[in-house]
Amino acid sequence: MIPYGKQSISQDDIDAVVDVLKSDWLTQGPKVPEFESAISNYCGAQHACATNSATSALHIACLALGVAKNDSVWTSPISFVASANCALYCGATIDFVDIDLETGNMSVNALESKLKAAKENNCLPKVVIPVHLAGQSCNMQAIHLLADKYDFKIIEDASHAIGAKYLGKPVGCCEFSDITVFSFHPVKIITSAEGGMAVTNCAKLYKKMQRLRSHGITNHPDEITEPSHGPWYYQQLELGFNYRMSDIQAALGLSQLKQLNNFVKVRNEIAKTYDHAFADSDILHLTQSDDCYSSYHLYVVRLTQCDIAKHKSVITSMREQGIMAHLHYVPIHLQPYYQTLGFSKGDFPNAETYYKQAVTIPLYPAMIADKQQFVINTLIGLV
Ligand SMILES: *Cc1c(COP(=O)(O)O)cnc(C)c1O
Repeated sequence: MIPYGKQSISQDDIDAVVDVLKSDWLTQGPKVPEFESAISNYCGAQHACATNSATSALHIACLALGVAKNDSVWTSPISFVASANCALYCGATIDFVDIDLETGNMSVNALESKLKAAKENNCLPKVVIPVHLAGQSCNMQAIHLLADKYDFKIIEDASHAIGAKYLGKPVGCCEFSDITVFSFHPVKIITSAEGGMAVTNCAKLYKKMQRLRSHGITNHPDEITEPSHGPWYYQQLELGFNYRMSDIQAALGLSQLKQLNNFVKVRNEIAKTYDHAFADSDILHLTQSDDCYSSYHLYVVRLTQCDIAKHKSVITSMREQGIMAHLHYVPIHLQPYYQTLGFSKGDFPNAETYYKQAVTIPLYPAMIADKQQFVINTLIGLV
């Protein structure tokens, strides 16, 4: 089966992990801060807080921004469920902003209309979480302007987008957001097996997230409430979690980071080949903005000429022929759990149309030309 995505692990990656296994620190050692500095340097952000997943990073990012009961958080319905679940973990309510069909990203127009209505009803969101679908940044400049106007915070869910650029700068520089979150799950651009990272330019948010990822505990002289009892002393100041990344994971992430630019370059080349191959067909791809350099976590095509049955049969036939075609994503508001929260079919029409048309086809750095040609021929033959 040709997978839709796959990690690339080198001998250097393996050696980096083995070195940690032979060292004194399997966790809470030097590799985590090393990985954090490497990521913040790469992105051009001041601070980075490593976690055991992007899901945890999204959770503590929301908490750090003060998301709590009676707050509202908005995200995109075309995302992995974690983008929305993080708000619910904080006891807040979640709502969605419909997408732009051409890019699959949150629609700025839809966001603006929803904000106008929310202002009238006195129910503006505390945080908006744009998701950089497939590795292409959302229109962050416009979203940031709206954040100033309507007074909300921004967490970029850049789980797909490490190595991507927006207006010439790395996604994660947080020029237009408060916090950016990355995922290092093996299907993403670089991996630490499981792992995530929250980057920010705000020292206060960074400190808060650091504390929340480790039980709400600190021994920092500036943070504790009374003089230290001695070198063993620490205080729990709030209810945190064990969301720590291990040194084994950080070492793998650090080693993978060295390959990041190369991975993204190869992903772009493979994407370009698909673009050309489908140029004269009914197979559309996600429109790329000139403002963006995508990391191409996913290659998504849209089959706008196919009905539901045909769309389904394209995916199942590809799988029968050994190609792991996929669909990212089932709109979150259509998930049974979200339906129990009051969402229903028809709430976000573009997301639902997108769901009837989108197909993810294989793209990963080690994909060889023969396999790509097989995917191209198979898909063209089916559509
Ligand atoms: C993968 C993913 C997540 C969750 O990442 P984990 O590291 O697996 O927790 C969150 N948001 C999006 C958009 C993702 O694709």
